[in-house]
Amino acid sequence: MLKIDNINVYYGNIHALKGVSLEINEGEIVTLIGANGAGKSTLLKTISGLLKPKDGEILFQDQSIGGKVAQTIVKQGISHVPEGRRVFANMSVEENLELGAYLRKDKKGIKEDFEKVYDLFPRLFERRKQLSGTLSGGEQQMLAMGRALMARPKVLLLDEPSMGLAPLLVKTIFRIIEEINQSESGTTILLIEQNANMALSIADRAYVIETGKIVLAGTPDELNESDQVRLAYLGGY
Ligand code: ATP
Repeated sequence: MLKIDNINVYYGNIHALKGVSLEINEGEIVTLIGANGAGKSTLLKTISGLLKPKDGEILFQDQSIGGKVAQTIVKQGISHVPEGRRVFANMSVEENLELGAYLRKDKKGIKEDFEKVYDLFPRLFERRKQLSGTLSGGEQQMLAMGRALMARPKVLLLDEPSMGLAPLLVKTIFRIIEEINQSESGTTILLIEQNANMALSIADRAYVIETGKIVLAGTPDELNESDQVRLAYLGGY
């Protein structure tokens, strides 16, 4: 469904992604694991059109999207939930969700998706009139995910959704990611996580990125068996 073929991405003369290739099949949860600064967020920003690859190719449903503007990419069906949950602080929960659907015209579908988002996140329904800037960190993460879902994406890119959340809430967020993936629309998910154990527990496949290069790929079982991965990312022994 999404194929990244040998892309290179630079910030000025910093070579942040070095010949990265990866593939995500329809309906999968794929996780990208790597240390701070490895290039994880850079890859998501490149897929969603916030950064342009210098070369290489990004294919979404067999069409090239590399270098297209972010709005076009959202319209084609890829939504990005950035790190740090950037919600519009001075707008209510409801208004933030409406914004997520701003490229859509199907009023009926939008209404259905409001209901779906409120079903997934009952807390957002309770707080729908509240200014988003006054929500807790966990609630803002839910809102950022809800807003992305309002675009009815085929692929959801999640950048460290568990960051800074209490353990119980982390579990809730991961359960919801699985629900989004298993729902009737079967959203495909690319998940970046520092919490590699949790990410591998829900993923179909995983890639490991180190200083801008993919160094390993496989199923969670295969990665769990790798000494290199266990030591570096899984609190290994
Ligand atoms: P983290 O887990 O810490 O968020 P990451 O794997 O997401 O890390 P990136 O944010 O993709 O890492 O950064 C990859 C590299 O690119 C890092 O060396 C970083 O310093 C550099 N970088 C990121 N953004 C910029 C920028 N705007 N200008 C210059 N260099 C940048």
